[in-house]
Amino acid sequence: MTLLTPQAGDIPLPVPGALSVPYWEGCAAGELRFQRCSDCGGATHTPAVLCAHCTSTDLVWEVSSGRGEVYSWTTIWRPATPAFEVPYVPLIVEMEEGWHMLADLVGCEHDAVHVGLAVEVEFFAHPGGITLPYFHPRR
Ligand SMILES: [Zn+2]
Repeated sequence: MTLLTPQAGDIPLPVPGALSVPYWEGCAAGELRFQRCSDCGGATHTPAVLCAHCTSTDLVWEVSSGRGEVYSWTTIWRPATPAFEVPYVPLIVEMEEGWHMLADLVGCEHDAVHVGLAVEVEFFAHPGGITLPYFHPRR
């Protein structure tokens, strides 16, 4: 039995840009943030200038509940770089607020994942200097 854990090696890390700084600052503060449109109410992720639903530029940051369900997933055994420990399980999570995000599964075995699995975000401060979101099964 091997539980999936955050990647702590010398993996490629995201580089926050002007649009995504609030998102990454949220992760460091233990908040999963997304953008909400003030015109149509739709949620947008990844960080953007325009609403994904109506192209409004009136987007405001909100904090997610951090809860969602697995929408899709895959198991990686042959990573793009050997810095990744395998297996790891990238997920597309459908968040309670109706938006989707990509992150890895932790806290269970790789074969415990299934579509509809209830998950919750947790954060891992990578030694490379950025805090990354992961999801574990809800208990
Ligand atoms: Zn909109």
